[in-house]
Amino acid sequence: MNKNNKNKRNNSSQCAKCLPAKCCLYFAFEIDNPETRKDYESLLWKIAHDKVSLYIYRKKWHIMVHTRCHFLTADNKCGIYEQRPYLCREHSAEDCEYTSDDYGFSEHFRSYDELLAYIQKNTSFRFKHKPTGSPLNCD
Ligand code: SF4
Ligand code: SF4
Repeated sequence: MNKNNKNKRNNSSQCAKCLPAKCCLYFAFEIDNPETRKDYESLLWKIAHDKVSLYIYRKKWHIMVHTRCHFLTADNKCGIYEQRPYLCREHSAEDCEYTSDDYGFSEHFRSYDELLAYIQKNTSFRFKHKPTGSPLNCD
């Protein structure tokens, strides 16, 4: 679930077509914006791990972990619907992962190399590393 999405989720036919439910396949949270070389190295370390991406939304950096919720059932339902967390209750099908292509992110880094290229282009820190050929960590 993207915590930037504040609207209430509904049970539209759109959700029935979203297989598996995109909003139940990850979680994300805000992190400190990087300032120092060590901060950027720490982000490179994070994104060296599979299933991790980073994005910038409204000038704030976030980490996204692409992992399926245990309660998403095989028939694409919430297995704990009545007691689902508030983030799920507030989620909207009108403006969600299925309907929005980029969620308004100004940057979305899906691999080590994408982040490395951004750092080399947008900071004054000297990262002489060559691209590693790292795979995408998510779709
Ligand atoms: S991503 Fe959107 S369409 Fe898909 S299940 Fe979630 S709310 Fe429904
Ligand atoms: S608790 Fe239910 S609605 Fe929330 S992420 Fe898990 S399966 Fe989806």
